[in-house]
Amino acid sequence: MAKEYDVVILGGGTGGYVAAIRASQLGLKVAVVEKGKLGGTCLHAGCIPSKALLRSAEVFATTKRSEEFGVITNDVTLDFSKVQERKNKITDQLFRGVQHLMKQGKIDVIEGFGRILGPSIFSPMPGTISVEMNNGQENEMLIPKYVIIATGSRPRSLPGLEIDGNYVMTSDEALVMESLPKSIVIVGGGVIGIEWASMLHDFGVEVTVLEYADRILPTEDHEVSKEMQRLLKKKGIQIVTGAKVLPETLEKGEGITIKADHKGETKSFSAEKVLVSVGRQANVENIGLENTEIVVEKGNIVINEYFQTKESHIYAIGDVIGGLQLAHVASHEGIVAVEHIAGEQPAPMDYSLVSKCVYSNPEVASVGFTEEEAKEKGFKVKVGKFLFRAIGKALVFGESDGFVKLVVDEATDDLLGVHMIGPHVTDMISEAGLAKVLDATPWEVAHTIHPHPTLSEAIGEAALAVDGKAIHT
Ligand code: FAD
Repeated sequence: MAKEYDVVILGGGTGGYVAAIRASQLGLKVAVVEKGKLGGTCLHAGCIPSKALLRSAEVFATTKRSEEFGVITNDVTLDFSKVQERKNKITDQLFRGVQHLMKQGKIDVIEGFGRILGPSIFSPMPGTISVEMNNGQENEMLIPKYVIIATGSRPRSLPGLEIDGNYVMTSDEALVMESLPKSIVIVGGGVIGIEWASMLHDFGVEVTVLEYADRILPTEDHEVSKEMQRLLKKKGIQIVTGAKVLPETLEKGEGITIKADHKGETKSFSAEKVLVSVGRQANVENIGLENTEIVVEKGNIVINEYFQTKESHIYAIGDVIGGLQLAHVASHEGIVAVEHIAGEQPAPMDYSLVSKCVYSNPEVASVGFTEEEAKEKGFKVKVGKFLFRAIGKALVFGESDGFVKLVVDEATDDLLGVHMIGPHVTDMISEAGLAKVLDATPWEVAHTIHPHPTLSEAIGEAALAVDGKAIHT
C-alpha cells in the first residue's frame, strides 16, 4: 500500500529525527524511515555512549587520586560490566525519549531500509521511497512531496588494516567491548582518537596514539594542540605524530603489531588491540541515488545553502553531506532544510558560529577562526590568553591545566575565534558562541560580569588580556 506525505526523511539520527519534529511543528505530514534505531550514531554509537564511558573513566581516575582531596579510598577497582550497563541505561532512556517525541509529534516511524525510486507510477519525479521492512513484510511505498536524506556516516577504515572486531576495531566495536585491553594503539589523533586515548588511559589502559599529521587535533588552534599533546604525554600516553601506518606489515599473535613510517624510518608498535579512528565516510550507497540527478563529490552529497540537492525537492543534511560531522550541526541543518521546505525563509547556516568540542580529559572547545586561520585570511590579530592555574575554581576542582584564548581583529575589535583547553570548557564555549552571534567585542565579553568563583572567569580575564588588562596575571 502506498502512503502520501509532505516530507519523508531517510534516516532517524540526530539530523533526521530533529528535522521530523520541526516538520511536525510546522504542520507537515512527516514520516521517518529508520533501518536501525531512532537516534542514530550519536545516540547509539557516538556522542552519548562515548561520553558515558568518559564520565566513568573520569570518576575512576579522580577516585584513584582522592587522597589529594583528603578523601581516603582503599582498593579502588573497576567493574567494567557495570560501566557498560550504566552506558546502556543512559542510551535506552534517551532512546525512549526520542520514541516519545515521535509519537507526540504524530510522526510515522517506518522501520526498514529506504531507497529512492526514479519516476514511477506513483510520481513522475524521482523521490518515491520504497522501504524494505525490518519485519520482513512486503515493501512499503511512501510518496512524499519532499525527501530529506539523512543517512549519516560510518567509520572509515585503512586499506590493509581491516576491522576484524577482535584485534582491529573502530569506535563502533570499542563501544561495546566487554572488557578492557591492557594496551592499545590508536590510529588517528583527531577528536574521536583523542577522546578514546584519554578515556582508555583513565581506565588504566596503556595507550599509544599514531597521528599522520605533525600534531594531534590538527584542526584546532596550534597552541591548543600543543598543550593537549603536552598534557597527554605528561599523563603517560605515548603520542607519535608524523606517523604513516604501513598496513601490509600487520602481524597478529598474542596481540597485534603494526608498523609505521616515522620520518623515513619504519617503526613497530605492539598492543593487545588497535583502534582505527581515521574519520568517517558518508552513507550514500544503495539508497537509490542512481535513480536521481543527485551529485556525489568526494563521497558526500552535494547541496546548496538550503540543503537542496540537484533534485530541488530532495534535500540532504548531516554527516551524509560531509563538512563538520557533528550532531548539533546535523540537527540545525535539518531545521533549516525543513523550514525552507515549509517556505519559512530560514537564514542559511553560518558554519563559523559552530562550536566544536573534544570531551577528553582535559576538554577542548572552540568557535571561529584559529589564530593561524585568521592570519592566513589576512587579519592582523591580537590575542588574549588566560591560564586556568590562576582561577580559584580550577584549583578547587583540582584541575588547573589549560587556558582560554581569544583571537581578535586588531582593526575592528571583532572576535574572530575563541579556543579553550581545560576543565569543563565544553560547557563554557556557548558564551563565546553567543558573543560571536551578537558580534560582541572583547570589552563587552569582559564586562559581562563573571561570577566568582567560577571557571568562566577565565573567559572574562582572557577578554581583558586582549588589551593587556587581565587582573590576576
Ligand atoms: P546518523 O546519526 O549517523 O544517523 C543516520 C541514521 O540513518 C542511522 O540511524 C541509520 O541507521 C539510518 N539510515 C542510514 N541509511 C538508511 C536507509 N537507507 N534507510 C533507513 N535508515 C537509514 N558529534 C557531536 O556533536 N558531539 C559528540 O560528542 C560526538 N561524539 C561522537 C563520538 C563518536 C564515537 C562518533 C562515531 C561520532 C560522534 N559524533 C559527535 C558525531 C555524531 O554522532 C554525528 O555527527 C551525528 O550522529 C550525525 O547525525 P546524522 O543524523 O547525520 O547521522
